[in-house]
Amino acid sequence: MIVAEKKPKVGDPQMTAPKKGDRFRCQKCGMELEITVDCKCTAGHHARFECCGQPLTQE
Ligand SMILES: [Zn+2]
Ligand SMILES: [Zn+2]
Repeated sequence: MIVAEKKPKVGDPQMTAPKKGDRFRCQKCGMELEITVDCKCTAGHHARFECCGQPLTQE
């Protein structure tokens, strides 16, 4: 089975391991965060980025 279109994840960035080059943005104030080193952990919980009281959206 093939999923034709995959949109960027929004709201739960902790579910995927951040990789180098990933960018996270705060929709409220416009702050941006860029990952400079891959996350290599294999556990289920990854970094959670929040700003202005809400999760950052991954671009
Ligand atoms: Zn991690
Ligand atoms: Zn913010």
